[in-house]
Amino acid sequence: MADRAGRREELADRLARVRERIRAACGAAGRTEEPRLIVVTKFHPASDVRLLAELGVTDVGENRDQEASAKAAELAGLGLRWHFIGQLQTNKAKSVARYAEAVHSVDRPQLVAALSRAVVAAGREDPLACLIQVNLDPRASGRGGAAPEDVPELGSLIDGSPGLRLAGVMAVAPLGTDPAEAFARLAEVGGGLRRAFPEAAMLSAGMSQDLEAAVAAGATHLRIGTDVLGPRPPVG
Ligand SMILES: *Cc1c(COP(=O)(O)O)cnc(C)c1O
Repeated sequence: MADRAGRREELADRLARVRERIRAACGAAGRTEEPRLIVVTKFHPASDVRLLAELGVTDVGENRDQEASAKAAELAGLGLRWHFIGQLQTNKAKSVARYAEAVHSVDRPQLVAALSRAVVAAGREDPLACLIQVNLDPRASGRGGAAPEDVPELGSLIDGSPGLRLAGVMAVAPLGTDPAEAFARLAEVGGGLRRAFPEAAMLSAGMSQDLEAAVAAGATHLRIGTDVLGPRPPVG
């Protein structure tokens, strides 16, 4: 199909450019170990995710359970790792526990409890990796996330919950602020957590607009959507 070949070429091209940006950012920051690229495929069709897998993408991110669960089921044979990165209602925990390798948006005790119950009930062999989403914007709580001062307690709770593995921290840089400052703060919060829980080493930071700042701050995982896939199509 000509369409498919064209889209494949476009994705290959965009992906190469993003990978080059990551390499350059690592060089500028003197980093030898590159962060893992999670391609955020929300709003884009499963056919795009399939092409990305063909192009060597191993990790994909989604922010709505309904969409993510359908794609994960359709693409089950590809061996992709699915990262859930959106605000999560407790009643969706059961579904997410079936396909997600990691949830980057754990931000409250009720969600920890729901995820733990769901993983145990699903009889999963591997634990669900949980990252604490940190709200770095003292003015707003709308985008989700725990307050930095609540992170240690939430970390202990996750660490003590059956089926869950405390994996690290995640944040979105607040709008209209310097992402370098935001990610430095995230790295500080993550460092504190890691002193108590050495396994909690993931630092999930950086989107299309601010990946360089995230790499400089030590991000281990980048979540890039638009710059790989193009603008998100409107939802029907
Ligand atoms: C959509 C989304 C991304 C990707 O953002 P882009 O600007 O498209 O790269 C990353 N993280 C979260 C939490 C998102 O919701």
